Amino acid sequence: MTTTETPTATRTSTSNPGGGIDPGKILDGKAVAAEIRGEVAEQVAALTAAGHRRPGLAAVLVGGDPASHVYVGSKAKACEEVGMLGRVVHLDADTAQAELDRTVDELNADPEIDGILVQLPLPPQLTEREILDRIDPGKDVDGFHPVNVGRLWLDLPGFVPATPAGIIEMLRRRGVDLKGKHAVVVGRSHIVGKPMAALLLRQHATVTVCHSRTRDLAAVCRQADVLVAAVGRTGMIGPDHVRDGAVVVDVGMNRLTTRDEVEHYFPGDAKRMDVFERRGSTLVGDVDFTRVVPKASAITPVPGGVGPLTIALLLVNTLTAARRRQGLEDGADGGSAR
Ligand code: NAP
Repeated sequence: MTTTETPTATRTSTSNPGGGIDPGKILDGKAVAAEIRGEVAEQVAALTAAGHRRPGLAAVLVGGDPASHVYVGSKAKACEEVGMLGRVVHLDADTAQAELDRTVDELNADPEIDGILVQLPLPPQLTEREILDRIDPGKDVDGFHPVNVGRLWLDLPGFVPATPAGIIEMLRRRGVDLKGKHAVVVGRSHIVGKPMAALLLRQHATVTVCHSRTRDLAAVCRQADVLVAAVGRTGMIGPDHVRDGAVVVDVGMNRLTTRDEVEHYFPGDAKRMDVFERRGSTLVGDVDFTRVVPKASAITPVPGGVGPLTIALLLVNTLTAARRRQGLEDGADGGSAR
């Protein structure tokens, strides 16, 4: 969506009979993320120009998982691009819990650092919950600490996980009104599904949360005005799951690794096949995009949908943390819609 037109569940489906995809339907997360990052950069410049300290984010990476290296690197780079301090703390794959605890304690005490994130997943000898609970809730920009989870459900200021916060912000900026709508979230993880449900409720949507034990998933999904898929399974949301005019948000990040799969999910898509040929794989979501697009009134692509929003909202959270820690007026945290 490039205009402020409000997609509604009653809008007639506008499949593109000429073949390609109607670009007006695409919820371009990359563009929204660029807007947000530009705004954060301006606010960081204003903060430092007023004599305050620049915000700082520390990302702790344990071990050498290549995907995690890429994520952490892009988070640090995004910080630098908006004028923040972005620090990466690398620890060996065989790091003991006590050493990781000590690292987090040091970052909790470090005056230059406003936000701390520990890149997941962690190697098996480390306890994820123990380390997430150790992060100072005031620096917990991922919003995974129990204090921030509680604050989210109580509509109190805190830190909201960046992925669902980014989705709400994109829908707001693209004129998708959630009030009174039926939102169905597929997935109930602590990182995406549950906070997504909380934020949708805060926006006065009627929310249904589905999971692996949900009976007749397609029938439940078909009730959705707004459908959020956060499962991690390629193509699990097909046209049977989507009612005409629904807004579809695809959080999933999966990889197609065979030519047959690419041809199945993106028939005749030369650009997609080219990416696959060059890289040996291509990133896809949980939604069978090609077949769902004709039914949706608005839809996020993968890549270029939800992914870029996550880093943008992490920057917003870090700016908010820095402002709070310097005793400045509270920044936006997706606050209560009431
Ligand atoms: P997760 O912790 O593995 O949770 C997956 C959820 O999907 C669970 O609640 C699970 O149900 C549910 N599920 C599994 N199979 C199902 C089925 N057949 N029918 C209905 N529900 C089913 O995953 P996550 O961390 O939430 O991530 C989900 C996806 O989003 C992944 O692809 C991940 O890579 C992606 N992601 C993307 C971003 C981004 O920035 N774009 C950020 C975070 C995550 P149960 O609870 O019953 O097991």
